[in-house]
Amino acid sequence: MTNRNRKPRFFEKVLFALFILLASAVLFITCYKAPVTGRSQFILISEQEANQMGTAAFQEVLSKESVSNNEVYNEAVSRVAGRITGVSDIPQYNWDYKVFKDDETINAFALPGGKIGVYTGIIPVAESDAGLATVLGHEVAHVAAHHGAERISTGILAQLGAVAIGVALSNRDPLVVDAIMQAYGIGVTVGGILPFSRVQESEADSIGLIYMAKAGYDPSEAIDFWNRMEQATRGKPKPPEFLATHPGYGTRVSNLKKWLPEATKYYERSDKAQNLMISSSH
Ligand SMILES: [Zn+2]
Repeated sequence: MTNRNRKPRFFEKVLFALFILLASAVLFITCYKAPVTGRSQFILISEQEANQMGTAAFQEVLSKESVSNNEVYNEAVSRVAGRITGVSDIPQYNWDYKVFKDDETINAFALPGGKIGVYTGIIPVAESDAGLATVLGHEVAHVAAHHGAERISTGILAQLGAVAIGVALSNRDPLVVDAIMQAYGIGVTVGGILPFSRVQESEADSIGLIYMAKAGYDPSEAIDFWNRMEQATRGKPKPPEFLATHPGYGTRVSNLKKWLPEATKYYERSDKAQNLMISSSH
């Protein structure tokens, strides 16, 4: 056998491998769709893997942050989160909600698998159950729309390039593990967890609005909440997750107004929740 004969065979193999890889990538892409919006997603890891990573990352957060013992806040978060997750696309998840004591942090976050953190700083801005439903609707939407798994997949793709992915995933390449850790910001700060894209943020707003409406909270309260958020955070350095990559306030409010008629239909049919005011006295 001469070299001239060997070369085409090698390339044939490479082409075949690429074909298989592309075919499986297409399969992955078509398998995942975000709820409500129906957006097709590029996701390389299984739901179970993403959820395990989310749970591990939440343990990491719990070891670093102090959990608030403010009963009023804890009850409000459980009450509202229970209703929101109940009407979400994934009520069966092992949901966990924690209130973290940090009055300066006007923020909240969500991890795959249904682990949600709310900082005490955002609760006076939420003001009432409906305000809190805006925050929690948005966070539960991130989980339901697999935004964490999507973010990890983008991280893997960025680090390895398309060709290496198939090989790396089958071999449990440490580079993949690195990409996953980076995507989650594990070992970094809490704020480093899951920097979502603008598309994901806007999607979480739209799905979240439907969830709060289905849960029995007036979706028009979301607009009032975001107006309060703008006032509360004006001039402050923008914290991650809730503000950094989020659309600007103007864009956000005009989007919410656009989605409001549809959300209102769900609200009208819903089992209405009481909109309690959340007292900020500790
Ligand atoms: Zn978000």
